[in-house]
Order: sequence, then C-alpha cells, then structure tokens
Amino acid sequence: MIWHRRCVGHPSKGRKIEGMDFLRPPSWHEALALKAARPDAVPIQGGTDVMVEINFDVRRPSALLDLNPVTELAGWETVDGRLRIGAGLPYGRLIAELGDRAPGLAQAARTVGSPQIRNRGTVGGNLGAASPAGDCHPPLLAAGAEVEVESVAGGVRMIPIDAFYLGVKRNAVRDDELIRAVWLDPAPGPQHFSKIGTRNAMVIAVCSFAVALHPGERRVGTGIGSAAPTPLRAPEAEAFLADGLDGLDWSGPLPEGLAERFGELVGEAVSPIDDVRGTAGYRRHALAVMARRTLTWAWNDHLAATGMVS
Ligand SMILES: Cc1cc2nc3c(=O)[nH]c(=O)nc-3n(C[C@H](O)[C@H](O)[C@H](O)COP(=O)(O)OP(=O)(O)OC[C@H]3O[C@@H](n4cnc5c(N)ncnc54)[C@H](O)[C@@H]3O)c2cc1C
Repeated sequence: MIWHRRCVGHPSKGRKIEGMDFLRPPSWHEALALKAARPDAVPIQGGTDVMVEINFDVRRPSALLDLNPVTELAGWETVDGRLRIGAGLPYGRLIAELGDRAPGLAQAARTVGSPQIRNRGTVGGNLGAASPAGDCHPPLLAAGAEVEVESVAGGVRMIPIDAFYLGVKRNAVRDDELIRAVWLDPAPGPQHFSKIGTRNAMVIAVCSFAVALHPGERRVGTGIGSAAPTPLRAPEAEAFLADGLDGLDWSGPLPEGLAERFGELVGEAVSPIDDVRGTAGYRRHALAVMARRTLTWAWNDHLAATGMVS
C-alpha cells in the first residue's frame, strides 16, 4: 500500500488549506483492501468529474483513491462470448477498439466532451458519477448491461443496469465497493444513439436517447438520458414495439405510424424538468423525434444486414 499525504485547497480564495490523503494502490487487490479500510476515500479514475468538483469546492473528500495504477481496470476482454469493459477504459480506446462490438456505446462516447476529455474520461467514471445526463447510460440501458462491483467483504456483485441508478447522481455501489467493469453482449443487432445539446461539442445533453435491436429475442431496448431524476428505459414503448415488430415477423419496412407511436410512448415515459438547458415540453418533444429517427435508422440497418433491402 502506498499512502501519501499532501495539502490541497484554494489559498488564493482565502480558504483554509485542508489535508487530504492520496491513496495509490498498485493493483486491484490492494485497491479493494484500501477501500475496505477507508470507505470515505473517493475513487478517482480520469478525474474529469472528481477534479471539477474539488476545484469548485463542491466536495472536499478526506481521501482520494487513485485507480490509475490499477492496470486490470484499463482494458477489455471477451468472456464466454460477453464483453467485459474495464471501468478504467478511456473513451478514446472504447471508440477505437469497440465500435463494432458496442456501436451504441461507442456512438455515445464520441459525443463526450472533447478529445482531451475522451482521452481521460471513462465508462466507470460515468457510472460512478451517475449523472442523469451522462452519455453512457442510455446505450447501457438499451443493451441490457450489467455492472460488476466488488468489495473485500461482499466479493463480486453483478448489478443489472436497470437497478443501478437510484436517484440524481446516486447509484447502487456501496461505500466499500469499487466498480470493476461493465458487461454487455456484443451487439446482436443495430444500435443508435442520439443526443441534443445547445451546441455540437463540449456539451451536456439536453436529452439523449439510445435504441438497441435484439433480433434473436425479438425485442428492442431503449435508454433515455437527461429527462428524469435517473437515466431510464421506456418499458411501454418497448412492449409496443415487441408486438408491432412481431406482427411484421421482423421483416419488411416499418408499418406507417409505428415509429411515430413509439416516439410518443418514449415522450410519455419521462418526467423532465425545465432548466437552463431546455424546458420539459421541449425534452418530451425532442425525445419523441429522436426515438422515431433512431428506430428508423436501426430498422433500416437491420433490413440491410439481413439482406431484405440492398
Ligand atoms: C469539459 C468536460 C466535458 C464533459 N463532457 C461530458 C459529456 O459530453 N458527456 C458526459 O457524459 N460527461 C461529460 N463530462 C463528465 C465526465 O467527463 C464523464 O462523466 C466521465 O465519464 C467521467 O469519467 P472519469 O474517469 O473522468 O471519472 P472520475 O472523475 O475519475 O470519477 C467520476 C465519479 O466516478 C467515481 N468512480 C470512478 N471510478 C470508479 C470506480 N472504479 N469505482 C467506483 N467509483 C468510481 C468517482 O469517485 C466519481 O464519483 C465532461 C466533463 C468535463 C470536465
């Protein structure tokens, strides 16, 4: 275990300089041991959320647990046919290496911040922050992902993504646990992600939507961001499509009105607020449009992939 103590603070702002322990475990095993001994320690990976909060005095943790030396977190692998994406895999690598296996997540990753942020920021950090506006959440919900967490006392726990988000910036990770990885099936069908911002780059989502086709299970997954206290799915819209597409035998063009009704049901699934980025009414409307469009794109990709259109 390596423990450093150093001082941080904003003397220029006239604030008291406080001590903060900086813990730097060299391995996953030691990271878990440190988290067990110091549940107050705040994990830091890319730091693109944590450092902003510290710099703006939103939080002043008694200790930081730096996970960057933990090489086990920084990769991805395929285990029994499923993708296991390490919590510390930066967006840049996700985009470069997993665009074919996790296209929805990779599309979302491409919209995150700037190249600098995508170089440092990670899926694990997005899950840790659990912001309703985080861009990874909609594609993870649509894909039916699972979050792998671990602690010394409890061992490994797999949390279904639907059960992961508990409230605004609150998740199901316990104080002595760390996020190890996120699991999902390599895309069994087309996936799309769409995000509205007040400009094209470096923008928090006004709202966002992801769709994932699961042709083998004859169902369509959904994920919605920035339109409720937590990221969420649209179960009624999913059930409506499961019926509508089954009647179509998953072949041929979408019947008229199906995508529109799907969009309306997505708009009805949310409970957005008015804020500086947009009104609740705008968010509902925009989600209905994004749901209609992404479903149409995904369906057309599906028809092309199955040779039903050229
Ligand atoms: C300029 C700028 C632009 C941004 N743009 C976007 C954007 O477009 N879309 C978007 O979604 N986000 C955006 N963000 C937010 C941020 O980049 C993302 O949330 C990113 O995924 C955070 O990853 P990180 O590795 O930097 O997390 P960190 O800041 O290191 O950590 C974030 C949270 O996760 C916790 N955590 C980290 N790793 C673990 C772990 N293994 N186990 C348990 N908890 C853990 C931390 O304790 C903290 O609470 C932006 C941030 C900045 C500064």
